[in-house]
Formats: sequence, C-alpha cells, structure tokens
Amino acid sequence: MRRVVVVGAGLSGVACARELRAGGVDAVVLDRGRVPGGRMAARTLWDRRVDLGASYLTVSDPGFAAVVDDWAARGLAREWTDTFTALGDGRADSKDGPVRWGAPRGLRSLVEDLAADLTVERREVGSLDELEADAVVLAMPDPQARRLVGDHPVADVLDRAWEPVIAVAAWWADRTWDGASPTGRFDGAFVNDDPDVAWIADDGRRRGDDAPVLVAHSTPGRAARHLDDPAGAVPAVLDAVRRLLDVGEPEDVHVHRWTFARPTGRREESYALVEGDRLVGACGDGWGETPKVETAWLSGVRLGRALADRLR
Ligand SMILES: Cc1cc2nc3c(=O)[nH]c(=O)nc-3n(C[C@H](O)[C@H](O)[C@H](O)COP(=O)(O)OP(=O)(O)OC[C@H]3O[C@@H](n4cnc5c(N)ncnc54)[C@H](O)[C@@H]3O)c2cc1C
Repeated sequence: MRRVVVVGAGLSGVACARELRAGGVDAVVLDRGRVPGGRMAARTLWDRRVDLGASYLTVSDPGFAAVVDDWAARGLAREWTDTFTALGDGRADSKDGPVRWGAPRGLRSLVEDLAADLTVERREVGSLDELEADAVVLAMPDPQARRLVGDHPVADVLDRAWEPVIAVAAWWADRTWDGASPTGRFDGAFVNDDPDVAWIADDGRRRGDDAPVLVAHSTPGRAARHLDDPAGAVPAVLDAVRRLLDVGEPEDVHVHRWTFARPTGRREESYALVEGDRLVGACGDGWGETPKVETAWLSGVRLGRALADRLR
C-alpha cells in the first residue's frame, strides 16, 4: 500500500487523510499540537470551552453540508444565528447573512470527530527530509509550509502572505450587552473602522449555554504590533470592547496569538500537487477563494482525491 504523510491536523489535513484512506492509500497525520483542530481552536476557560480561533462555520457546498448535517444530527454542531450587529461611527445596525454554525463543545470537537478513526501522531516536523513516505501533504498556512520544503519546487507556489490576529477572551459575572444590538439580542458584531478590534463574538450564545463570555479579534495592525508580546494588545482591545458594548471591567481575560490567522490576496486553485524528488501536496484554507472552514475542508478533500488517483 502506498503511504502518505499529512503534516497538519487542522480540518484540511484531516479531510485529506480521510479521502486518501477512502481511496485505498495509507495516510498518517502528524501535528505539533496536543490535539487536532489547528485554527478551529477551543480552550477550557472558566469551566467551559471557549472558541479562540474560527468563530463559526458557514455551509454552501453540498458535500460539506452532508458532513455538517451529520454533526448536527449527533449534537456536535448547531445552527447559531444569521444575524450579527455592525458597529462603527457610533451606529449599530443589524446585518443579516447566511446561517452560522457553532459547536456546543467548541469547533475543535468537529475536527476531533473527523480524526477519530485516523492515525494522528504528535510531532513537530522540521523538514520534508525527515519523512518516509511516497508523498507528503502540507496542510497549513503557506509561511509554515515554506519552512519545511527547502528547495523542493513546491516552494514556488507557497507564495501567499498571511496576516495575524490576537484573540482576547473575557468573562464577566453577568451578561449586560444585549442592548448593543438593535434586535435586543447580541450574538456578535463586525466592527468597522476601529484601529484595534475587528470582530466580537458572544461565546455563550454561539455555544448555547448563554455564559457571559465574549471573544474579541484584533485588527491585523494591532496584532502585528504585539506578536512578541500578545498580552500587550489586551488593554487596547478591551478598551474598545468596553466602549463599543458599554460594559465594565471583566472578571478575567485570556489572550491567544495567531501569527498566521488568514491569507491576504487571492488564489483560485483549491490545492497544489508538485513533483520533485517526491510528490508534495499543499492544501488548507489558503487554497480557494475565501479563507474559511468550508474552504479548508474542500481543499483537503480535493487534494486527497487527486493524490489517491495519482498513487493508485
Ligand atoms: C482568529 C481566526 C478567526 C477565524 N474565523 C473564522 C470564521 O469565523 N469562520 C470560518 O469559516 N473560518 C474562520 N477562520 C479560519 C479557519 O479557522 C480556517 O479556515 C481553518 O481552521 C483552516 O484549517 P487548515 O487545516 O487549513 O489549517 P490549520 O487549522 O491552521 O491547521 C494547520 C495545522 O498544521 C500544524 N502545523 C503547522 N506547522 C507544523 C509543523 N512544522 N509540524 C507539525 N504540525 C504543524 C498546526 O499545528 C495546525 O494544527 C478563522 C481563523 C482565525 C485564526
């Protein structure tokens, strides 16, 4: 049986490995993290899980819809909302959009579910040369993949720039911010033209337990100034949240740095598969039009199918 090593146990790597297995190819997944999930990250804070990376997922592809429906049927995913608030210029507007899905046990639990029958090992990979395999898949942001490839020709296509985000989770004793939304129910807010904060999610509402926990995502500019000291971003982010939602000091805060949160620019291709001294694939949410959870899944699935065809 041909063997593929997939580096990265985020959604794209796990989706790719499942597709390889379905195509009759042996696939092992390596990740430096303690658990699968990548940027669909959740951490236990204040006795419950808090999403610190992706805020929600949206669904348009029929194949991904089938996966999400299966999660929903088993209670792993839930429809959250189709209405957020847009804050800026002293105004609060209601903004309708597609249904956003959350996960009662955090978005990471969805990746863990798909990885359950795969072989996932904890290991930080430093170079392609360490890996014994017929082909290698790099399922991660371009800058992380570039570090591993040396002079393999795949380096030429790993050319997308990425920008950072700092996530600040905060817990209050009471929920006091529903009035910040024109509907009287606050689920989340896009923040326009603020130098420090771009998005605020209500973690209790998305999880369905109504815990008074908010997660604010910084602007890339604010994050870039604090990559060596993420805690240094907290005062500016919290000040903005307090001003925008008219809330007091939180009981506690937690900060998380995403050095490579999302790609900039555009890329149409949904994966890369490049010959060299061996076959190397690249997938992830940087491969496709919009960097989001669904794109990562599609990219992994498409690369897995193409690679299984090639190796059969
Ligand atoms: C702050 C933030 C907010 C977001 N909000 C949303 C949202 O609301 N909706 C949405 O749809 N999407 C959102 N996203 C994007 C979403 O999280 C991603 O699209 C998706 O999780 C990407 O999955 P991936 O598999 O491509 O990459 P990742 O999840 O980044 O997985 C890459 C994996 O590779 C591993 N890795 C890297 N280097 C190595 C190495 N050398 N050795 C071993 N392992 C390695 C990492 O540990 C990681 O687990 C957000 C992302 C961030 C950061």
